[in-house]
Amino acid sequence: MEKKKIAILGSTGSIGTQALEVIEEHADKFEVEVLTANSNADLLIAQALKFKPNTVVIVDVTKFEKVSEALWEHDIKTFTGVDALAQVAAMQETDVVLTALVGYAGLLPTIKAIEGKKTIALANKETLVVAGELITKLAAKNGVHIYPVDSEHSAIFQCLVGEFQNKIEKIYLTASGGPFRGKKKEELLEITKEQALKHPNWDMGAKITIDSATLMNKGLEVIEAKWLFNLQPEQIDVIVHPQSIVHSLVQFEDGSMKAQMGLPDMKHPIQYALSFPYRLTSSSPRFNFMDYSELTFEQPDKETFLNLSLAYEALEKGGNLACILNAANEVAVEAFLNDKIKFLEIAEVNQRCMEQIGFIKTPTYEDYVATDSETRVFANSLIQK
Ligand code: NDP
Ligand code: MG
Repeated sequence: MEKKKIAILGSTGSIGTQALEVIEEHADKFEVEVLTANSNADLLIAQALKFKPNTVVIVDVTKFEKVSEALWEHDIKTFTGVDALAQVAAMQETDVVLTALVGYAGLLPTIKAIEGKKTIALANKETLVVAGELITKLAAKNGVHIYPVDSEHSAIFQCLVGEFQNKIEKIYLTASGGPFRGKKKEELLEITKEQALKHPNWDMGAKITIDSATLMNKGLEVIEAKWLFNLQPEQIDVIVHPQSIVHSLVQFEDGSMKAQMGLPDMKHPIQYALSFPYRLTSSSPRFNFMDYSELTFEQPDKETFLNLSLAYEALEKGGNLACILNAANEVAVEAFLNDKIKFLEIAEVNQRCMEQIGFIKTPTYEDYVATDSETRVFANSLIQK
């Protein structure tokens, strides 16, 4: 495998820092070209001094002076602002862009990276949720591959390697069920953010951890899977698997099923997305059957965890509905993290926005941008009340 130059958008987050651990473990295979952060200047500076990228971006303008002062004598270019983030995504020297930033902010840099013909290692699922049709068409037009980082989608992707054109009958995305699995609405009324931020199996950024607790994360993943693997809604099923060992499954036309398994460890799918089609060594702990006498599976509770039903509705109706759901959810999760709304109100805000905001059957990029801002305004007005 030739050495690849990697741009990490969102290098200071959970995925970004784990990606840097993978790169450090395989310094002969990967080299860091670009690092970006929103506002965590100290960590960005430390990462840049260690990995010596060509360029860094700190989106928060107030942190720019600090970052550029720390890095200029090391010959590392420093930029700030949202436009810079989009521009560096398409930088000439990069081979792979890892989109590890969180939320809608990932959309424009991903578009620019695809237009710049960069291979995409996609962690930022919100990009495909918001504008899956636009992104997949653009990738096809530019001959760009999108390799999934999300563990479930990486599992499906790994199951499909070697299957050539064999048709998928169905996929099963596994879900841990989050910290409130088995609970009913009455028991979720007074959930605190501290409780919701404790995920049983994965250590992740705050937004996705809350999404996992509300099952929004699985809903977003259902939509992500549609675009990555070109599936119809009825071909995508969710099954709760509390141990998070089976990362997802594919069922083919002959009824045969393939699953990908391993301990829950995001470094595995991150590494596979960066090294594909090769597998590299890994020092991560191995699965031991004796530690897991049982692997169990159960139906998700779509009534209690309404977000999963809302995601299927968005998937079936298409258009800008998933963009509405995503924007509403980003606002609602932030409000929950700031103690402005209760846990169950997250899904209520999402549902109200889906009912209220105008539906567009075949949105353009500009329509997505307008839908996103309109939804944020409406969602915030619901929260203020
Ligand atoms: P984190 O919150 O841990 O990290 C987010 C990163 O993006 C940070 O580097 C942050 O910078 C940066 N960032 C945040 N907001 C913006 C913005 N508006 N503009 C530019 N940069 C921004 O998130 P995660 O690593 O957990 O998740 C990243 C993505 O990967 C999400 O889409 C998530 O759904 C997906 N994912 C994550 C998994 C995980 O295990 N964590 C698993 C599967 C998917 P700063 O540090 O300065 O705030
Ligand atoms: Mg996942």
